[in-house]
Amino acid sequence: TRAALMQSSLEQAEAESKAKGEFLSHMSHELRTPMNAVLGLTDLTNMMEGVPDDVKRNLEKLRASSHYMLDLINDILDMSRINSGKLTLEKETFSLKRMLSEINTMMETEAQRLGLTYVLKQDVVHNNLTGDVLRLRQVLTNLLSNAFKFTPLGGSVTLSVSEEAQSENEAAFTFRVTDTGIGISSEDQKRIFESFEQVGASFTKSQGTGLGLPISSSIVAMMGGELKVSSQPHEGSEFYFTIILPLSAEAEQSSN
Ligand code: ADP
Repeated sequence: TRAALMQSSLEQAEAESKAKGEFLSHMSHELRTPMNAVLGLTDLTNMMEGVPDDVKRNLEKLRASSHYMLDLINDILDMSRINSGKLTLEKETFSLKRMLSEINTMMETEAQRLGLTYVLKQDVVHNNLTGDVLRLRQVLTNLLSNAFKFTPLGGSVTLSVSEEAQSENEAAFTFRVTDTGIGISSEDQKRIFESFEQVGASFTKSQGTGLGLPISSSIVAMMGGELKVSSQPHEGSEFYFTIILPLSAEAEQSSN
């Protein structure tokens, strides 16, 4: 019958999509190992004595390209995990201050290199929280890298974090990444959270997979929040989300 035919083609499509996901995930795993070797050996060679300056410059480029390749592989791996429902979040105690200071170290260097101002504003009471700190950091560094990528020389990028009390053992944290960059039209704002979308002027000029925002938005959704954007073309963009995190039972004073 027609219904049975439809059912079997649906099952076939599902099986194909699952096989595709498994293939992608397996391939990305396999690709990561040699890329890590390339990166490691590049760094080792760079540290050797007597490496001429022009070789050093080439090694720097090799390093940057390898990092970029590794980022792409990681994005594909994450996207295939999300699509097959295999991405899970850890529950561990972490220090919010430590995470923010790690992000700062990376972003301050990046801002200096690009000729931009980077500011962190924090208005938080609690430090020891429970959640997946690596995934949270991934979302924030993704939003910050985008902000840097789409903000011209002389502009500024701000990360702000605020806390609002919920109950004795939970608080709501709002993270905002604001830039003074090229902005996104309201039409384009609807598309950027979909896979492989790159919009506006950035479409031709920027490196990227168009996977960063879909991945970030899925991670924030898994954390119980919603990643949103507010933006004006030529004025800048703000990406923001609020998540409720359990306060860790560990003593606050033992953290820093
Ligand atoms: P990628 O950055 O790898 O292209 P993303 O999913 O992170 O992919 O972003 C998708 C697109 O959204 C970008 O290519 C760009 O067009 C737009 N975009 C994201 N963040 C910003 C921003 N802060 N300012 C302007 N455009 C942005």
